[in-house]
Amino acid sequence: MSTKQSWIEIGTNSDFTMYNFPFGVYSSSQTQHHASSAIGDYVIDLYELCELGYFKNLNLDKQVFNKEFLNDFISLGKTTTNAVRNRLIELFDSANTELKNNLEHQKVILLKQTDVKMLLPVRIGDYTDFYSSIDHATNIGKMIRDPENALMPNWKHIPVGYHGRASSVKVSGHTFHRPKGQQKPADTTAPVYGPCKLLDFELETAFVVGKKTEMGESISTKNADEYIFGMLLFNDWSARDIQTWEYVPLGPFLSKNFASTVSPWIVTLEALEPFRTKGYIQEPKVLPYLEYEGDKNLDIKLELFIQPENSVPSKVCTSNYKYMYWTMEQQLAHHTVNGCNVNVGDLMGSGTISGPDPSEFGSMMELSWKGTKPIKLDDGSERKFINDNDTVTIKGWCEKDGMRLGFGECTAKLLPAN
Ligand code: CA
Repeated sequence: MSTKQSWIEIGTNSDFTMYNFPFGVYSSSQTQHHASSAIGDYVIDLYELCELGYFKNLNLDKQVFNKEFLNDFISLGKTTTNAVRNRLIELFDSANTELKNNLEHQKVILLKQTDVKMLLPVRIGDYTDFYSSIDHATNIGKMIRDPENALMPNWKHIPVGYHGRASSVKVSGHTFHRPKGQQKPADTTAPVYGPCKLLDFELETAFVVGKKTEMGESISTKNADEYIFGMLLFNDWSARDIQTWEYVPLGPFLSKNFASTVSPWIVTLEALEPFRTKGYIQEPKVLPYLEYEGDKNLDIKLELFIQPENSVPSKVCTSNYKYMYWTMEQQLAHHTVNGCNVNVGDLMGSGTISGPDPSEFGSMMELSWKGTKPIKLDDGSERKFINDNDTVTIKGWCEKDGMRLGFGECTAKLLPAN
């Protein structure tokens, strides 16, 4: 299998290869906000590419690339957005000289990633989070319910989810304060108020909805891919002590809505297609509206690091998107089966993705088994949960037959309580 080469130098472990061309929005000292893609160590300014005539056959208004968010661009539809991506693949191919030989244009179009700031890529209308990893749901069920009946009776029939909060979803690189709230320690009869003590990460991915539906309309598993624009890395920060006290009977509330972190680049579903893999055999059989055909899972390697202040990052777990029991197509079909409408820019979290091996658990809750087994970091310090001033970073990538693409980073730092 031949590997696609570019005239841009791309490092062996680069996330931004000829197979990727994700979409994001950047800002710099010169530019307030331009839609962009990425290759090697560079950001590609799509507004400037359009302005300089490189998209002339695509009939695009350059202003669609001069917006704070990608929503309007994504709303043009996959025919257009895929044509833009395919044009990028063509333009950066080693055999193509259009931009390669125009150093003046390159100066305007290509910016060092280290010289720009990536912004939140979409205006998120609604954010939904699922609970679709069987190992995660089983671990949590064992810990807080019954080891013999870890999964709730509905779990293998419904892609369980809840409505989260979009206002506090921030792009990678942000900080936030340790949340405060009510907790009910086991040794007290009344609840107490104060800073959360059991602050956790959740290793997730999320997908961005790329096509709207009207109320009353449902998306089938067969058509779902038309509605999935692409994926990002996602850390759904959680306050376990607040969660344990508040979640009955309506589910998590303040334990989840104080902060969530997304990576800045949306990797398109089309870029991810070569990395499709078989899904779980779902037993018992799911209801017909959840049945699907083909390989709909994805082999996306994931890893997570904790970096204490003034110290080195330690890898604390690895996981893989392929451990998802429910596919994105099933999640979307289920989300809309009642006629609930979705909009361009809606964000759907996978739920914590854990694998079967203890090194593949996607939260501190599981890694430290509810705080009973502290884990050791590379600097010798121990963690049961996340400490003040820790930085947590998720990385994700796909690799197969000489092809590689990655998601960039999803990183955020926890500050002490306000
Ligand atoms: Ca979650």
